[in-house]
Amino acid sequence: MSLSENLRLPKPCPVCGSHNMRVPSTHNPDEKVHCASCRTYICLYSDAMAMLEKEPRSEEERLIEDVVNRDDRS
Ligand SMILES: [Zn+2]
Repeated sequence: MSLSENLRLPKPCPVCGSHNMRVPSTHNPDEKVHCASCRTYICLYSDAMAMLEKEPRSEEERLIEDVVNRDDRS
């Protein structure tokens, strides 16, 4: 039973460069966020959330754009 979930952070892991992190599913601000690949401690969950709030959602916007562009079946 896994009590954590994946989260993509704008800041990469200092050890392996991965952006995929494991965060506790409890979403407790005092819980620790670890790298999903090498399990290095990255930061606290509250720090990760602050990081994500600052980061513009460029990737999500690009995905929406892709969906719109794909709609030109002629
Ligand atoms: Zn790592």
